[in-house]
Amino acid sequence: MAGDLAEGPELSVVVPCFDEAAIIEQSHRRLRDVLDAVTGLRWEVLYIDDGSRDATLPLLRALQAADPRVRVLALSRNFGHQIAVSAGLDAAAGRAVVLIDADLQDPPALIPDMLERWRSGADVVYGEREARAGETRFKRVSASLFYRLMNRLSTTPIPVDTGDFRLMDRRVVDAVLAMPERDRFLRGMVAWTGFRQEPIRYRREARTGGETKYSMRRMLRFAVDGLLSFSLLPLRLAVYLGLLASALALLGILYALALRLFTDIWVPGWTLLFIAVLFLGGVQLLSLGVIGEYLGRVYWEVKRRPLYLVKERLGFDPPRQRRA
Ligand code: UDP
Ligand code: MG
Repeated sequence: MAGDLAEGPELSVVVPCFDEAAIIEQSHRRLRDVLDAVTGLRWEVLYIDDGSRDATLPLLRALQAADPRVRVLALSRNFGHQIAVSAGLDAAAGRAVVLIDADLQDPPALIPDMLERWRSGADVVYGEREARAGETRFKRVSASLFYRLMNRLSTTPIPVDTGDFRLMDRRVVDAVLAMPERDRFLRGMVAWTGFRQEPIRYRREARTGGETKYSMRRMLRFAVDGLLSFSLLPLRLAVYLGLLASALALLGILYALALRLFTDIWVPGWTLLFIAVLFLGGVQLLSLGVIGEYLGRVYWEVKRRPLYLVKERLGFDPPRQRRA
């Protein structure tokens, strides 16, 4: 109904939460104050509880009961950050959607500036990190290496030093929602859509409380997801390595033949043989592994399981249509 649309929120803020009981109330207050300070803005804040094991969900319920502009979507278990955000995008009704983390490492104070840019025509306004306070040197260096590698390999240029903190126009949100893949590397998917994308620089704060949910292992997985879903180069790398190994093997064959035919010292050549066998075995395993990674993803995708399951929705009335 057109009337509904006119009354819907102009801005949706999507906040994924996983075990954030320590800070969620404080975060909400800060977010609400920033949004209320923008005159005439109709907003909603959408908290996605990503299967928290602590008191996050009850706290969210209380926030929702106190303010009808708060909506809560509780997933049936922990599905991971990128999927929680996708669930939020599914449920967001705004003409523009902001993604922000519950820990306020990305300052909500930037949202009015993002809105301003959006109103003057930008379709995506993404936060570009100037500094990362309170993060280990290792995280900073690995993150920066990752973004640079990613851009060498990827077919879609992805802005360096950005996270998921961004504002997106409805057109972009709909485009992202239309992508059914389950390896969701959102910042890449948004970059892929095109439209008018503008950076906005900011300082990344330290967490206000609680601790990071991205362990070393999760970060690595995330990096591999990003690389493999935006580049076919690793697959090609297997071919290059195979070619290189074959060329070396050919030289080895010629060498062995020459020794066999023109000299009688061909038995000691076992060292070379040994090395060649090991090398070829290594290259073959590596290539198989790369192919396996992609094949696994194809398998995962063709199952067509839903991305996530919802166990509770609060504050959505009338019940909103899920994406077809
Ligand atoms: N998060 C989530 N599901 C997860 C892990 C994290 O919804 O499985 C949320 C988390 O609550 C936070 C955001 O994603 O709002 C970013 O996580 P975190 O701050 O731990 O990551 P970091 O900032 O350290 O990269
Ligand atoms: Mg964080």
